[in-house]
Amino acid sequence: MKRITCTGCSLLCDDIIIEENDERKIEQVIGACIRGKERLESIKSHNRILKPLFRENDDLKEVGWDEALEKAIQLIKESSNPILYGFSTTSCEAQAEGIRLAKAINGFIDSNSTICQGITLNKSKEVGVTMTTLTEIINKGDIILLWGFNPIESIPRLLNKILFSRGKFRMTGREIKTLIVIDPVKTASYNIMGPRDIPLLIKPESDLELIQALKKICKKEMDIPSEGIAGIDKMDLERLVANLVDSENISIFTGQGMLQQSEDGDPLKELLELIEILNNVNKKGRISVIMGGGHFNMTGFDQTALSLTGKNHSLQFKNDALIDTDDNIITKIENEDFDLSIIVGTDAISHLPSILASHLASKPLILLDNRKSSTYFVADVVLPTAITGVEAGGTAFRIDDVPIKLSKLIDPPNDLPSDEELLIKINKKIKGE
Ligand code: SF4
Repeated sequence: MKRITCTGCSLLCDDIIIEENDERKIEQVIGACIRGKERLESIKSHNRILKPLFRENDDLKEVGWDEALEKAIQLIKESSNPILYGFSTTSCEAQAEGIRLAKAINGFIDSNSTICQGITLNKSKEVGVTMTTLTEIINKGDIILLWGFNPIESIPRLLNKILFSRGKFRMTGREIKTLIVIDPVKTASYNIMGPRDIPLLIKPESDLELIQALKKICKKEMDIPSEGIAGIDKMDLERLVANLVDSENISIFTGQGMLQQSEDGDPLKELLELIEILNNVNKKGRISVIMGGGHFNMTGFDQTALSLTGKNHSLQFKNDALIDTDDNIITKIENEDFDLSIIVGTDAISHLPSILASHLASKPLILLDNRKSSTYFVADVVLPTAITGVEAGGTAFRIDDVPIKLSKLIDPPNDLPSDEELLIKINKKIKGE
């Protein structure tokens, strides 16, 4: 029996037990959710990429490592404007090597965080942010607010840990923790609500209206109107405001819906401003925010990029130095401002809007990944790697920005390198070492 950390999502549960047989194969998994079990089972998936490939006459053909690396290096050397993208399902060590590669080849590098969790960090530069950790929520939390965020499907064990837990300092747990859900959709997270909880189904696209009204109500510049706000009636709004201004420890988890800007304003920026106001009017405790990203090390890219360059994502290098840019991966691809892409551990072709996917597919693409995806089928060179957190170790940052050590549990098939090892090799070849 061995205790391991699961890399199925950004919760990085470190309480999973596995049982191995004599051949170091995983026999039994205890404590993981379905998503976590799937992650461990992916080692024997029929989608697994086990050998390097490159495209010849429109077909991908299996080749040896020397040939595949030679082809990749040739494409990189022929490129004058490469982009690197992905990096949210690999270790911080691999992310650092990716940033070094981008620097060495005058490239632009970005992670999935640029269109997700990283946006919170950017807004916080303008208005500040109060952060928290899962441990603090477990021990001290009394209000957990999910705003446009449905962890039951994206981070399955999150509420088990933070809502159904007692913590160190209290004799009570779930009994005194109130769950508030604000969402235009009745998601699975509504199904676990109890009598003291507050389910608030708002009108679609009315988050901004509600946040702006709450800012005024909490500053006592406005009374709650008798007709309610954003589809929520007056009585529910009174309960919401009372909980926000009179609780000891409030954590607000935000989802993707909060990232959509409108002509009338920016919901995420206004939410951070609301949190600042609440921290001033609430005399008992503190209110914090956590952006609910799903990929297991999306936060890690921001941390790694910040520590190496002082900027958290969208890094453009020229002449061995970081230069200012307003671009992110979306604008780079939209404007076709690249001549080669290096994709690491993500299915960009499926995840990006179709027009961007077609731009990406129209230029040479090198893929480092462990499984076949839509991106695999348009790649020019495919370099298979070990699965991080199962077949390779390293460091990852949890959803609450806490660094967690990942261990190698089993050997990868065909002696596949980790993302970090492969990127080190590519960096050495680029430098002619
Ligand atoms: S919640 Fe996430 S980290 Fe925890 S077991 Fe499930 S997939 Fe793994």
